[in-house]
Amino acid sequence: MNVFSHPEFDNHEQVCFLTDPKTGLKAIVAVHNSSRGPALGGCRMYPYASDEEALRDVLRLSKGMTYKSALANLDLGGGKSVIIGDPRQHKTEELMEAMGRCLEQLGGRYIAAEDSGTSVPDLKVMGRCTTQVAGVDAHIGFDGKPSDGDPSPATAYGTFVGLKAAVQHKLGRTDLTGLKVAVQGIGNVGYRLARHLHEAGAQLWVYDIHQDQMDRAVEEFGATPVSAEEILTLPVDVVAPCALGAVLNDTSIPQLQAKVVAGAANNQLERPDHDALLMQHGILYAPDFVINAGGIIDVFHGRTGYEPEKVRAHVETIGDTLSEIFTRSDRDSRPTGIIANELAEERFDFVPSQQDGSLAKAG
Ligand code: NAD
Repeated sequence: MNVFSHPEFDNHEQVCFLTDPKTGLKAIVAVHNSSRGPALGGCRMYPYASDEEALRDVLRLSKGMTYKSALANLDLGGGKSVIIGDPRQHKTEELMEAMGRCLEQLGGRYIAAEDSGTSVPDLKVMGRCTTQVAGVDAHIGFDGKPSDGDPSPATAYGTFVGLKAAVQHKLGRTDLTGLKVAVQGIGNVGYRLARHLHEAGAQLWVYDIHQDQMDRAVEEFGATPVSAEEILTLPVDVVAPCALGAVLNDTSIPQLQAKVVAGAANNQLERPDHDALLMQHGILYAPDFVINAGGIIDVFHGRTGYEPEKVRAHVETIGDTLSEIFTRSDRDSRPTGIIANELAEERFDFVPSQQDGSLAKAG
């Protein structure tokens, strides 16, 4: 397995392969860039089909965190970790403790947060053996409500703020009354985003693979339920992908009727150059790793001393960052994803990759 010559290696500072034979732990930690601070990123647990697949994922995601944190103006670098295994079968307290011990040995270069396959309780178990975990302390959140460390409310609020900035830029409206929005995925983030939009007077269309998630939005926000095929192609003002990645692709983009795409899902573009296709179709795309940074902002403040008002104000800067990206994109006639990457690269110690010119994608 190639590491230094891996297509996704891209000047990573550190890649650690961690094992613990007693518990069966097999994990990889990647620190992409720490010029802004220690690398904070999720710890993902997934039954990767091969070590290569796990390496590719961790390298790609870790680089994305460098860009996300830089654009969120956080004193953090980019890193990520993956535990190879099925969370439903292989996750034990002993395994999580072993991961915690390994992270402690990295001396604070990488700080783990929850990700798919891991939860706040898992991070707390890791935290028995290391101080290098984040997002695990109960506190009063940015919205004045009790929080167990779950970043979803902050992610949803940041997405709402970013969506408003996109609507103002593209449609010239500051009042969301009657704005038509299609939300794909009514989970932790999508549900809360839908609530913000409803409270602001928007009209909602929703789709989720789980009927009960959709029913909640119908009952509470008067949303209109639609099918999987319809959600991205409705004659609405905004599409907000809040479920899965790769939804913006060669097939979906020509069918979009919305003039704005602004949602929380990670890796919405199937390929990096799909931002150019969106631009060609006259659609303003809010890069996912900019608009969904509320969660990492929240987690960061959880480690440095959580002051709700300060966190709220920080999350709201997502709107300003996006406005800057949209303005530069118009000025230079170049896609928002490329502009966002360049803006991030101005903010960390960037060295162009020798291997490829690929764009960052957030994790
Ligand atoms: P979640 O699992 O709570 O919600 C996802 C929802 O999408 C679920 O209700 C699920 O049923 C639904 N879904 C799955 N496949 C679908 C499909 N094909 N079509 C429609 N709905 C589908 O996850 P979440 O925490 O709300 O995160 C949503 C997205 O935002 C993810 O892409 C995640 O990576 C990203 N994100 C989340 C956070 C956060 O703080 N939670 C931070 C940054 C990015």
